[in-house]
Amino acid sequence: AAKASGKRTWRRFRPQQRVRVVERHDLQVRLDKAVSQEEFNLRYQPVVDIAEGDVVGFEALARWPEPGPDPVPPGRFIPLAEETGHIATLGAWVLRTATADIARLQHRTPRLAPPYLSVNVSARQWRDTGFLDEVCTALDTTGLAAGTLQLELTESVLMRRTEQIDAQIRALKDRGVRIAVDDFGTGFSSLRYLQDFPVDILKIDKSFIDGIPEDPRQVTLVEGIVHLADTLGLQVIAEGIEKPPQRDLLADIGCRYGQGFLFARPLTVEEGEAVLRQRNDG
Ligand code: C2E
Ligand code: MG
Ligand code: MG
Ligand code: MG
Repeated sequence: AAKASGKRTWRRFRPQQRVRVVERHDLQVRLDKAVSQEEFNLRYQPVVDIAEGDVVGFEALARWPEPGPDPVPPGRFIPLAEETGHIATLGAWVLRTATADIARLQHRTPRLAPPYLSVNVSARQWRDTGFLDEVCTALDTTGLAAGTLQLELTESVLMRRTEQIDAQIRALKDRGVRIAVDDFGTGFSSLRYLQDFPVDILKIDKSFIDGIPEDPRQVTLVEGIVHLADTLGLQVIAEGIEKPPQRDLLADIGCRYGQGFLFARPLTVEEGEAVLRQRNDG
């Protein structure tokens, strides 16, 4: 009836809103079960040296392989898991599984420079006092060298630093773990943390990469970030590289590392190993 009226009245919206609430609740129930039964798996997206083409690392990305045509993407279930607190359990599983996978991969490819593992860590995990222990246990159990582990955080974590978070990060850095700022440039944080916070890597968000090389302002911004990183002695990784002209421009301006569908999609660990052998051997 609301549709027949042809107007966007509140009558049209209410039932849809209800559907959304029900869907959300249903999703949450399924997520509860999936977390307790560890129904997730991981994909690994290669990080490459843009000019050389070889693989230097892998970023672990969580997947929820529900039956059916449209699996729920991480952009949807990760925020929900953060709200419900399930991210603690899910994040711990990701850390254990990914460190084990990449430690084994490194063992199977002893002649190649060991690729590093990068793991996304949400704000809630960083606030968890047990997080440092979790990381140390994963390293000790799997034998993964701390120097080949990178942990990603977002600017939102840097905006709400506490003594406890800083202490955990210092302890991780002392062990040799590297810290990357994910989605760099999209947060609302001030750049002051770059002065006094020991980050190693800036990951330039895909939204900056999308506009290059066509949009001169975007080019200037990306150049500026690369220059800033160089000056501060940080590494940079460009995210979401899809087209050769983007790669070429990034190589020209001295952005050393990148990730994106142009190089490789997120892969199973076996596929990742095959790509590593192919790109890095010889
Ligand atoms: P992110 O950490 O910034 O990861 C990059 C995302 O961009 C991934 O999406 C990846 O598949 C996608 N991507 C990479 N290259 C390209 C490209 O060339 N084009 C396009 N269109 N996309 C590209 P994904 O896997 O859907 O993950 C989305 C976000 O979910 C991640 O963004 C991260 O914030 C979060 N996430 C995923 N796995 C985990 C996890 O285990 N723990 C936590 N805390 N967050 C996770
Ligand atoms: Mg990431
Ligand atoms: Mg990112
Ligand atoms: Mg992102």
